[in-house]
Amino acid sequence: MKKVIALVAHDARKKELLEWVSKHVKKLKGNDFYATGTTGKMLSSVLDNVRCLKSGPLGGDQQLGSLISEGKIDYLIFFWDPMTSQPHDVDVKALLRLSVLYDIPTACNRASADFLINSLLFGDPDYQPVVTDYSDYLNRVL
Ligand code: PGA
Repeated sequence: MKKVIALVAHDARKKELLEWVSKHVKKLKGNDFYATGTTGKMLSSVLDNVRCLKSGPLGGDQQLGSLISEGKIDYLIFFWDPMTSQPHDVDVKALLRLSVLYDIPTACNRASADFLINSLLFGDPDYQPVVTDYSDYLNRVL
């Protein structure tokens, strides 16, 4: 079943993501993709249906977070750079926070991305994330 996969890489890790996508292109094709602007432009050479959002530091990470909160992203592959401080560090943190909050399968390095794509659950139409019930929080009396 077609899934929606979000792809992001910081500059120092873009080459690695391109290699990973190229290696798994057969499995990836047939799904839909969102990517932050520069990552998406780069991946358009190997995937033909990447929807490019704004560049990460210009709001792209926040756009992805928003899509996650609307239930529109199934998997997140985010090769963030552990060696460079980012101007949009708060946005990076916010995106990762939402991926945990909404129980989105998320891979931040090549090994986890390999595990994710080779999982029997990859593409499984019946698998549903377990999102915590926040009704107590939403109905709290202030
Ligand atoms: P970019 O953004 O793909 O536009 O470089 C990546 C990021 O979130 O830093």
